[in-house]
This record gives sequence, C-alpha cells and structure tokens, in this order.
Amino acid sequence: MSAGVPERDEQFEILDCSAVVADIWLLLDNECDAGARERLQGHLDGCPSCLEHYGVQRQLKALISRKCGGDAAPEGLRERLRVEIRRSVTIQQRTFGADQ
Ligand SMILES: [Zn+2]
Repeated sequence: MSAGVPERDEQFEILDCSAVVADIWLLLDNECDAGARERLQGHLDGCPSCLEHYGVQRQLKALISRKCGGDAAPEGLRERLRVEIRRSVTIQQRTFGADQ
C-alpha cells in the first residue's frame, strides 16, 4: 500500500469556484489549453453563480476592447467596469425576480 497519494489530481478535476473565477479571464483571452477550457466550461454548465460571473467578465472584456481598442486595460478601469456591470446585472436580476 502506498502512502501519501497525492490529492492533486482530484483538486484539478473538481474546480472550486474561486479557481474558476480566477481562470475566466484566461478562458476569455483564449490563453488556456483545451483541457482547462473544457474543465472550466464543464464547471460553468453546472454552476449558475460562476456562469453569471463569466457573463459579466465577457461583457467587461467586450467593453474594454471597445474603449481601449486592445486587450490591455489598466487595472483601475477594469475594476471600475466590473463594478458597473455587476451592478447592472444585479438590477436586471432584481427586475426579473420581482413579484408582478
Ligand atoms: Zn462555481
């Protein structure tokens, strides 16, 4: 019996949300390999909160490339847009979820 089986593989399979959120930019920038992309998308399929975050990031990226004409945005701008988009998404959700 071999002791000390590495848990690494398992952690790699089961992405937790914070890891997904951290990697979403890579996914959007096409900077992750096919395996990572598959894992991320698999997680997004089953995790509404990460999927929502992904949607926010995607809008953010589109906005940044429109405003800056490139993929590099200053961190301050990125952060500000993130807050704005997040707010509008929250408002939309509230509208959809409101009692009629
Ligand atoms: Zn998640």
